[in-house]
Amino acid sequence: MKPAMIVHGGAGPWPDAEDSARGQALVDALHTGWRILEAGGTALEAVEKATNILEDFPLFDAGIGSFLNQMGEVEMDALIVDGAALDFGAVAGVKHVRYPISLARRIMTDTPHCFLAGSGADLLARQLGFPVMSNLFFVTEAEFHRFHEKQHAAPRPQGTGTVGAVALDTRGNLAAATSTGGVPDKMPGRVGDSPVFGAGGYADNRYGAASATGVGENILRVLLSKYAVDAIAGGMNARAAAAASIDHINSRFQDSQAGLIVVDRDGQVGAAHSTLKISIAWMDADGQPRVSMQGGVGVR
Ligand code: ASP
Repeated sequence: MKPAMIVHGGAGPWPDAEDSARGQALVDALHTGWRILEAGGTALEAVEKATNILEDFPLFDAGIGSFLNQMGEVEMDALIVDGAALDFGAVAGVKHVRYPISLARRIMTDTPHCFLAGSGADLLARQLGFPVMSNLFFVTEAEFHRFHEKQHAAPRPQGTGTVGAVALDTRGNLAAATSTGGVPDKMPGRVGDSPVFGAGGYADNRYGAASATGVGENILRVLLSKYAVDAIAGGMNARAAAAASIDHINSRFQDSQAGLIVVDRDGQVGAAHSTLKISIAWMDADGQPRVSMQGGVGVR
């Protein structure tokens, strides 16, 4: 079976001048995942390693570059879903983990639990031998300045740079990954959709896989990623399912501010958004990387 992969770097407005750097980081992540898939590796491995690249890229709101909360701290959330076993691992509110998506995977595979939050998750990371970083490690200079200037500035737009990846491997396994620093100026302890199974991500080998981005408080209320996979179960391809999911969230919320990427079990990819932009990269039918900041992803 031919593999398929699509990644995203969030939905929302951001300066056009950043498009090319964001696009290049997405292509790097896509290549990382694609090499794994082409070598016969699993979809799970591909989405994790692709997400690690995006977690390290400072223009995205995940890992390094995460938004600061109202107390000036980074709190990160992540979810990984294994569509073969209908299994997932998730973390919320971690402050010291270099790669939250990798910790989420180890929670799924190495513990009896699915979801760990806060200090317990950070502690597990240390016990598993993950690099433990000071919270400042994740704070970029730009975010530091934004935090200190925000008292005098107009409110900033919602988060723009959560990252995610969905893939189909050569054995027909589907996986999804989503990692985020949440929304800017969030209350300490706030958790959005990203680490919530069915909201920020979902995968089921029988149908498809999805990763969402945008205003978590809206996405949570419609379980956007599960909605997309249900639409595939109902007979849609990835592209139609992505569009139907955005239609659905728009029908419930006036300004839904959401986006998502989808892969179906036939290896078609899709994306849709109700934000100004969504940054995505995917492999086309010829195995060539394609990038878009406006959705516009067709059938492979
Ligand atoms: N969905 C993320 C959250 O609400 C933010 C984003 O995707 O921009 O935490």
